[in-house]
Amino acid sequence: MKRFTQKEVDEIVATLSTPQETLKWALDNLHPRVAKASSLGAEDSVIIHMMAQIRPDARFLTLDTGRLHDETYQTMARMEQKYKIHFEILYPDMQKVSEMVNERGINLFYESVENRVMCCGVRKVEPLERALAGLDGWITGIRREQTENRKGVALIEIDGRRQGILKINPLASWTWDDVQGYIKENDIPYHPLLDQGYKSIGCAPCTRAVQEGEDHRGGRWWWEGKSGSKECGLHMEYEA
Ligand code: SF4
Repeated sequence: MKRFTQKEVDEIVATLSTPQETLKWALDNLHPRVAKASSLGAEDSVIIHMMAQIRPDARFLTLDTGRLHDETYQTMARMEQKYKIHFEILYPDMQKVSEMVNERGINLFYESVENRVMCCGVRKVEPLERALAGLDGWITGIRREQTENRKGVALIEIDGRRQGILKINPLASWTWDDVQGYIKENDIPYHPLLDQGYKSIGCAPCTRAVQEGEDHRGGRWWWEGKSGSKECGLHMEYEA
């Protein structure tokens, strides 16, 4: 088990200037106890491409919540084929899903914030926490530009909610144009819904396209309006 002090993290970050350098540092120093967590959004396509160039046997985690868009599975298969990588697919505890849905309804998340948070907890947070428990670091596609709450995201953070493992955000400073440009330049497979205005990919009933000028995660849980946190609990530290 490797843990780093903030001073050590600061010294490491001072030596890194690109996402590729950041990922190489993570894979050289933490593999196989580091993994990319992915929902197959645009940022994930970029990072998966970069990681596969460094080492195709890097670890890629993805959550099958049971409510994903079909296009998400298609994108997953295309990425695996192109890069010869393997996604470790995390599933929720089906007993808990069954109890929740039978007690509160199949689309419980539309009924209240409490129900929505519960559904994200059972379908997303719990399985991811189980997977992260054995790691020294995880890699995310978080960018500062995505929401007001994510403005302070650092390149590498100590994840205090998860026993101090490292949270590595190689695209922290990238803009949406950087992401799109990189995908085009490198002919990277990407989620088809991006072409329909989706800037963030989540569960099908809880995500929709965003308008120009709207927060990139504004399509998440849109029925909750602007007061909603736009976080599902995986990145609770960025909640308002
Ligand atoms: S995004 Fe929606 S369907 Fe998916 S886990 Fe959260 S509340 Fe449930």
